Amino acid sequence: MRCPFCHAPETKVIDSRLANEGDSVRRRRECLTCSERFTTFETPELVMPRLVKSDGSRVPFDEQKLLQGMLKALEKRPVSLETIEQAVNRIKNNLRATGDREVASSRLGEWVMDELKQLDQVAYVRFASVYRSFQDLDEFRKEIERLEAPEQD
Ligand SMILES: [Zn+2]
Repeated sequence: MRCPFCHAPETKVIDSRLANEGDSVRRRRECLTCSERFTTFETPELVMPRLVKSDGSRVPFDEQKLLQGMLKALEKRPVSLETIEQAVNRIKNNLRATGDREVASSRLGEWVMDELKQLDQVAYVRFASVYRSFQDLDEFRKEIERLEAPEQD
């Protein structure tokens, strides 16, 4: 790999260890020319299945949308962003582990509920009560945003 500092073509790996609970490899590299050190992360490139919504339409999996939905449910709750991101990673692993090209968005919703149940009972009840009537993460998020939007006149 090319050195990001002096662009010399040769760098060597001086340390290699697992990161993100074993989902990626972190490598320390050193440039043979300028001796600068830098870090690279290696993660498997896996294609996420598409989501089949309750109306039958297909949408690509959107990690940001999933994270936003969980943040909404956990708003003002004593759960750290790091913990929420770990939950999102587990959900992504579940999605990949299906090995399917398409997964019902309701399954994604069930996984979100499983995670919330572990993280925070209040957030779980908040999410489950609204989500169950929508069966769709997008709709859930929109509804929460509508409820929290300031009154318009
Ligand atoms: Zn260099």
